[in-house]
Amino acid sequence: MYTHIVIHYGEIAIKGKNRPYFERVLIDNIKAHLKGLKYNNLRKISGRFILELNKDSNLEEIKNKLKNIFGISYFAFAINSSQDIDDIKKNVSELIQDEKAKTVRVLTKRSNKQFKINSLEMNKIIGEHLIKNHNLTIDLVDAELSIWIEIVEKYCFIYKNKIEGLNGLPIGVSGKVIGMLSGGIDSPVASYLMMKRGCKMIYIHFHSAPYTDKSSIEKVKDIIKLLNKYQLQSKLYLVPFIDIQKEIMTKTDKEYRVILYRRFMTRIAEIIARKDEANAIVTGEALGQVASQTSANLAVIEETVKIPILRPLIAKDKQEIIDLAIKIDTYEISILPHQDCCTLFIPKHPATKSDLNIIKRMEEKLDVNKLINDAIKNIEKMII
Ligand code: ATP
Ligand code: MG
Repeated sequence: MYTHIVIHYGEIAIKGKNRPYFERVLIDNIKAHLKGLKYNNLRKISGRFILELNKDSNLEEIKNKLKNIFGISYFAFAINSSQDIDDIKKNVSELIQDEKAKTVRVLTKRSNKQFKINSLEMNKIIGEHLIKNHNLTIDLVDAELSIWIEIVEKYCFIYKNKIEGLNGLPIGVSGKVIGMLSGGIDSPVASYLMMKRGCKMIYIHFHSAPYTDKSSIEKVKDIIKLLNKYQLQSKLYLVPFIDIQKEIMTKTDKEYRVILYRRFMTRIAEIIARKDEANAIVTGEALGQVASQTSANLAVIEETVKIPILRPLIAKDKQEIIDLAIKIDTYEISILPHQDCCTLFIPKHPATKSDLNIIKRMEEKLDVNKLINDAIKNIEKMII
């Protein structure tokens, strides 16, 4: 019965001069997600995309792909009709042939103002057809069934079920950023939220292999596979961190270790970001969640770099973050046990308010540049 999918994009429709660019990125993203699936074509018509199906199209598969694309506000399987009123009536009847609803409302969108019947008149004409031929009652407020009619250019599309999209912005329009993934609950959620705002993600993970097992690396890879539902393919940098940790452990006071670890991680992330043309670092830090995440400590961590550090979770409660992690399916993997490089050699009570001068004095005991360069030399890069 369905011949097309009507795809609407919300927020990007209001982006002024950038709009053509946003539309181009979104249509390219949709094509990439649908690669290998069968359909005739995908085009922009009057502020929406129209995907033409064919007899081999697998509607369920296409639907599942469209649900993972940021920038789509909603979409619907539609029947294409001519703009002839009798034809529209016939197609509306076909659309609702199996419906059991008793109340209905008709909502027409007319983008083609050349079309002589306006939206309200069209609602009325089709409403009367439904009352007369389908024994339905019109209910504008609380109808069990809604029928949408879109008059665009020379086409008419008719549909009854809107499928909610992810909203947000198409991945790519907000540039590239590097997500620091630990294997924990928070950082995948942070990356998801950045993708939702149109960022293309690359990822970096610091591990203590062979001192710890490789569980954190495997977890991070599995998390990226899940996050690839949204951007299809990702680059991951794996950074060996154990030598830096050993130096910090033997030469500095233990209550400052977490902060010192973070300062090294952030410096390395910045170097990779600049090489890979990423504009910002993304972390899963949330204020007050652990001792290292006080505003004073965040300031001391941030002091090492010039690149912005984005923390989309900063003001979220743990439960809100967990709820999101469950929604995006990363939670189950994140809670699996792993040997976290940052819990190695960490005291029970790390400093909650580090003094930058003290930290800098401690770093004077370390050969910061050499440690960083050695770690970077041994980075492993992979595409997932
Ligand atoms: P998460 O749930 O993401 O592990 P967390 O609440 O456990 O976060 P921390 O362990 O303090 O917080 O880490 C704060 C942030 O630092 C993480 O969200 C992540 O972005 C980054 N991070 C921590 N450890 C690593 C690591 N081993 N590799 C890469 N990034 C890390
Ligand atoms: Mg963690």
